[in-house]
Amino acid sequence: MTGTDQQNIANLPDVTALPSKVILPAAHAINYGQSIQQAIRLAGAEPILAGSSHHCSICELEKHLQEPGTSCLLLVSSRLVAGNEIDFKAAVKAAHDAGLPTIIDGAAQDRRLADLLDTGTDLLLLSAQKYLSAPTAGIILGTQQLVDSVRANERGIGRAMKASKEAIFGVLAAIEERQTENLAIWQAEQAEKLARFIGQANEIPQLEAFSIPDMTGLPFSRACLTVTRSKTNVGAAGLVEALKMGTPGIRVMEHALREERIIFELVPLHETEIAVILERISEILVPK
Ligand SMILES: *Cc1c(COP(=O)(O)O)cnc(C)c1O
Repeated sequence: MTGTDQQNIANLPDVTALPSKVILPAAHAINYGQSIQQAIRLAGAEPILAGSSHHCSICELEKHLQEPGTSCLLLVSSRLVAGNEIDFKAAVKAAHDAGLPTIIDGAAQDRRLADLLDTGTDLLLLSAQKYLSAPTAGIILGTQQLVDSVRANERGIGRAMKASKEAIFGVLAAIEERQTENLAIWQAEQAEKLARFIGQANEIPQLEAFSIPDMTGLPFSRACLTVTRSKTNVGAAGLVEALKMGTPGIRVMEHALREERIIFELVPLHETEIAVILERISEILVPK
């Protein structure tokens, strides 16, 4: 919205006279602990939802992109999005045809950076503290002009989002480490860790464990556990609560709990930590 114009930057969140509508597919209006729409409004912009929560066509995006006062198209690449999959390349092209830039929020998708940049997006946002395992910070990639515009907002509302110098050096170290990593070896290690967890979970008679691939195409799978009701009076929800209440507290992914599925993300975990999880599950489910 502001470019590098100092007056525009000083005026935010006042966007009078600036194009300020951010087009977002309705199914991408996620909540990652905060509603993304509020994050947009914080800058003075106005989120405009395109399509419905289960469907948004390129046609619907085009219709909104033509409207006066539109600033950009925002797409979200995350397992949190719902509805039909949107063809990112086609969506980016539609924005470019309307003379507008695109932003992809790919917070947890640093391992898909090349794919996401390949869509032709003008900006890509990544969280440093997710799979990159750096201290909390954000990474912005994109065209020089737009990255310069974001940077210029350091002297405006960006000040409130300032990353510490310790975090910045941590991010640089994490990027260096990632660059020397062998992806095939990493994937094999993750697959082996997962297979061992699933094998051991399946030895608990009250459980059924299997692996499920990441739905966004991240290069690893997660473990899914279901509790066999006939063999225990602790259901999936009961198991999740008991895991939380124990020491150490164990948190799982709960988004599939309605289907009685408990998802475990093992990527950041060590073998010793995995052993603690299996021990706790067994204590909760297996009667003494
Ligand atoms: C995690 C997440 C965020 C928030 O990122 P922070 O780095 O925690 O601010 C935003 N968008 C998506 C899609 C996320 O997954």
